[in-house]
Amino acid sequence: MSQRIQFARTGGSDVLELVDVTPAAPGQGEVRIANKAVGLNFIDIYVRTGLYPAPAMPSGLGTEGAGVVDAVGEGVSHLTVGDRVAYAQGPLGAYAQMHTLPAAKVVRLPDAIDFETAAASMLKGLTVQYLLRQTFELKGGETILFHAAAGGVGSIACQWANALGVKLIGTVSSQAKADLAMANGAWATINYSEENVVERVRELTNGEMCDVVYDSVGKDTWETSLDCLKPRALMVSFGNASGPVEGVNIGILNKKGSLYVTRPSLNGYADTRERLEAMCEAFFAMLESGKIKIDIANRYPLAEAGKAQDALQSRKTTGSTILLP
Ligand code: NDP
Repeated sequence: MSQRIQFARTGGSDVLELVDVTPAAPGQGEVRIANKAVGLNFIDIYVRTGLYPAPAMPSGLGTEGAGVVDAVGEGVSHLTVGDRVAYAQGPLGAYAQMHTLPAAKVVRLPDAIDFETAAASMLKGLTVQYLLRQTFELKGGETILFHAAAGGVGSIACQWANALGVKLIGTVSSQAKADLAMANGAWATINYSEENVVERVRELTNGEMCDVVYDSVGKDTWETSLDCLKPRALMVSFGNASGPVEGVNIGILNKKGSLYVTRPSLNGYADTRERLEAMCEAFFAMLESGKIKIDIANRYPLAEAGKAQDALQSRKTTGSTILLP
């Protein structure tokens, strides 16, 4: 037997329960991983609350983890039992001691990257890879606005932008979070609890505004974010921490300066094995070079996944959170 977190109905963190299950044997093209650490991500909260519906109930939760290959199904050639691996995609169920998933979603970990670092950063790091290197290929010298700059994704974005020579203006809700973002290489921060974001961006950029805005907050910040852009610049809406952006009249893009908008996802970018491997190579190189360090600020036992989600949802966390199975 092994333990996993599951939920039978959507709702608050109290719907999560720790149960004993017989771990699934890997089928054709699958592997089973003995997790050493599990990543906690905001998307797990969208799934638990039903914003992103789980395919079936009761459902496992989570898509990110790192550990050791424990069993290999038919037709898997790139992995063997005992390999150190990590993953950030695939079926729900990473909040568990054992997780069975398609081998195509699993990558070998370089020796220099430990399990906790991998579980704390793979989903977030691959996200930053596509946001800064693909959705808009930043070359250095640009000015960008990045919301939630002291969070899990934000902490990696600050460091990657700094390494690229990009001026990242990070929004945060407190002075402590501002200090953290600056320590991670942000060029400037805006504490939106006290300052007007658009006015402050105008001051910081001498009226020029931003080349790209990366907005994972969603509903609360959509229009503010558009107001922070240069004419014909790009709005990247990639999350819903405050709720989804809905009912948009496309004419707003004309009114606010012939803007572009995109709504990307990790699965949309790491959609083939080749693309996943290329993105991992780029991200792992940043970790191995020391240009990006992962701040595992919060660790919880698997049984306390609900408590960990509450902390993330109520803006109490900085950096990454992991669950220990
Ligand atoms: P974070 O650690 O960044 O936590 C979320 C942060 O968002 C909070 O700490 C808070 O920072 C800020 N925030 C602003 N408004 C709210 C609100 N109403 N409720 C809660 N938080 C709020 O989480 P992650 O690093 O896990 O994820 C960051 C975002 O990136 C999420 O929205 C997630 O969905 C998105 N994402 C999207 C992906 C994609 O491919 N599309 C992939 C991965 C993540 P502060 O207090 O400073 O405002």
